[in-house]
Amino acid sequence: MQVDVLNANELKSSGPVFGQLSFNDHEQVVFCNDKDTGLRAIIGIHNTVLGPALGGTRMWNYASEWEALNDVLRLSRGMTYKSAITGLNLGGGKAVLIGDAKTQKTPELMKKFGEFVHSLSGKYITAEDVGMETSDMDIVREVTPYVTGISESKGGAGNPSPITAYGVFMGMKAAAKFKYGSDDLDGKKILVQGIGHVGESLVEHLSNEGAIVYIADINPSKLEEVSKKYSAKIYTEDVYAANVDIYAPCALGATINDETIERMKAGIIAGAANNQLADENIHGKLLQEKGILYAPDFLINAGGIINVYAELEGYDKAEIMRKTENIYNTTLEILRTAEARNIPTHFAALQIAQQRIDDRKRENLR
Ligand code: NAD
Repeated sequence: MQVDVLNANELKSSGPVFGQLSFNDHEQVVFCNDKDTGLRAIIGIHNTVLGPALGGTRMWNYASEWEALNDVLRLSRGMTYKSAITGLNLGGGKAVLIGDAKTQKTPELMKKFGEFVHSLSGKYITAEDVGMETSDMDIVREVTPYVTGISESKGGAGNPSPITAYGVFMGMKAAAKFKYGSDDLDGKKILVQGIGHVGESLVEHLSNEGAIVYIADINPSKLEEVSKKYSAKIYTEDVYAANVDIYAPCALGATINDETIERMKAGIIAGAANNQLADENIHGKLLQEKGILYAPDFLINAGGIINVYAELEGYDKAEIMRKTENIYNTTLEILRTAEARNIPTHFAALQIAQQRIDDRKRENLR
């Protein structure tokens, strides 16, 4: 039998773990390792004051384990605030699987991951994220009840993306109401960056409303397809410098940064991508100074979590739509609060979400 020996020189990153930039009061971080299936996963539980930590599992070919850790810490924190601002009784959590979802994901690996989730006894509830399908969650369901986002045929709420898109549409309309005095998007020039699951559905809402829709994506065939379907114009120039009323990031995070803000001409930013601000402390303020209205991502992209929450609470499609539509009212409230307090909009959203968590913490102590 071969026994691996520990090499003291293997640990490349020295320095504090709790002091990592993204380590923001996380309650628990679980490293999951299984040699037989090749599973290497990290579950981040940020906060469980409002309820169990719910958040999707992402499978990604991370350049390093530190990158994976950083990702799970940032994403799980985001989930805490997303659920808190949406009024759900859920905490924030997320999981990352290290590896290529196309070549390394197997049913055995998903089952083993499910066993780790189960060992947390419901403190963390998983769902799908990038690199995961509903069918993967169905496999996880075989070994644990602490999973959402399973297929409709198995009692799940189904694909969350159209609901997420509807919520983004509601948030965008509220931002338009605040900035332009009307939430009618008819004739507004709107650029959607990333026309995947959420982006395409958003394009559909916008064209039904009479907006002039521009689309950008790295996938040329998808661009052709969506352009034909909804008469959207393919945009091939610098997305960030586009002369549009609204920029809707629906692809990657961190597209709002030092370089892009300088070039931006859009009046509003409202999109689905998570973690749009490269640095929350800097870039929200820069947008505010430039007069660009930012609809906080974690506020307006909450349709997906509202959809999976239905699996836990047992509410129906009509209630999902009602809760998602309410993103309009919450967004308006946050934008007005930010203006009254003269702070960036995402700070206002974070403050209100944190208040809800603090209030509940006090109640729980009574
Ligand atoms: P997706 O993978 O289906 O679509 C992403 C699209 O972006 C793809 O078409 C891809 O080709 C395109 N893309 C990638 N890099 C690009 C680039 N550099 N420039 C332009 N386009 C690029 O993902 P999705 O499910 O539609 O999610 C989109 C975003 O919304 C993600 O950031 C995701 O985390 C976030 N989000 C999704 C949901 C949901 O319910 N699916 C919920 C909340 C947040």
